[in-house]
Amino acid sequence: MYRFSRAIYRELADEIVEDHPAAGCMDNHERVLKACESAIERLATDRHYFARPARTLFADIRPYFPMSAQARIYRVIENYIACADEFLSRQPMTGYDLAGNPLQCRATTRKGTACQRMPLPHNGYCPSHQHLAETEELAERLAKQQLAEQQEQELAAA
Ligand SMILES: [Zn+2]
Repeated sequence: MYRFSRAIYRELADEIVEDHPAAGCMDNHERVLKACESAIERLATDRHYFARPARTLFADIRPYFPMSAQARIYRVIENYIACADEFLSRQPMTGYDLAGNPLQCRATTRKGTACQRMPLPHNGYCPSHQHLAETEELAERLAKQQLAEQQEQELAAA
């Protein structure tokens, strides 16, 4: 799985700007590699809540590159993140996450206990609780709408 983060890093390593290259310090290289790794890790373990992986990673590492390289860097990130996402979505569910914790549906059963069934990767619910994901999306959208309206009112009042 880390082959994706290593691939991103390798493609970009030449363009990383170091603050003190003469001292032979590689701090920014290390930061870029770490950021790539944690993005791929999140992609694998927390896909549902990781809405814009390419954009997030780009925002994390763009300060370490010259202006002239930014467009290429975003393209490279986008490419590899798309590959990694594709790859991960095709992986059979093993029942465990990368840290070895058992995967479980996010729903609670009528008895009030956690649903023990295997979740689907794209939203974290098992097949019989898929409808909850839809309800959740709706609730999220409503909450966002409310927030936007509230902000508008505040702006109007100010
Ligand atoms: Zn369930």
